[in-house]
Amino acid sequence: MTHSCIFCRIVHGEAPAAIVYADGAITAFRDINPQAPIHILIVPNEHVPAVDALEADDAEWVGRLLIVAREIARAEGVAADGYRLVINNGAQAGQSVAHLHLHLLGGRRLRWPPG
Ligand code: AMP
Repeated sequence: MTHSCIFCRIVHGEAPAAIVYADGAITAFRDINPQAPIHILIVPNEHVPAVDALEADDAEWVGRLLIVAREIARAEGVAADGYRLVINNGAQAGQSVAHLHLHLLGGRRLRWPPG
């Protein structure tokens, strides 16, 4: 089956990506347009459009997104210096891909507030 969603295509090996982590529920890959030296997207393998679409029984895998992010941050060598996790939800927040994703950003000083 060919998927129309670009992140579904990456998860199912139908589109190229630099994958850094994958298990039965979660895949992580490098952002194609990195905003920091380390910029990785962590996504559920199932198509969930956004945080706004989450159901109560999604809590287990949603929590695991953070645990996977922590492990990747350590593996990428940014855990000690610090990193940022971001989820954009909806147009006004700048969400451009309608498949829930957690941004992991690190490797440089990150400004706050982001603007
Ligand atoms: P957002 O704006 O929060 O929806 O983030 C979407 C992110 O997906 C952006 O940072 C894009 O650079 C990234 N992106 C879009 N297409 C791809 C792709 N094919 N491979 C990797 N990252 C992508």
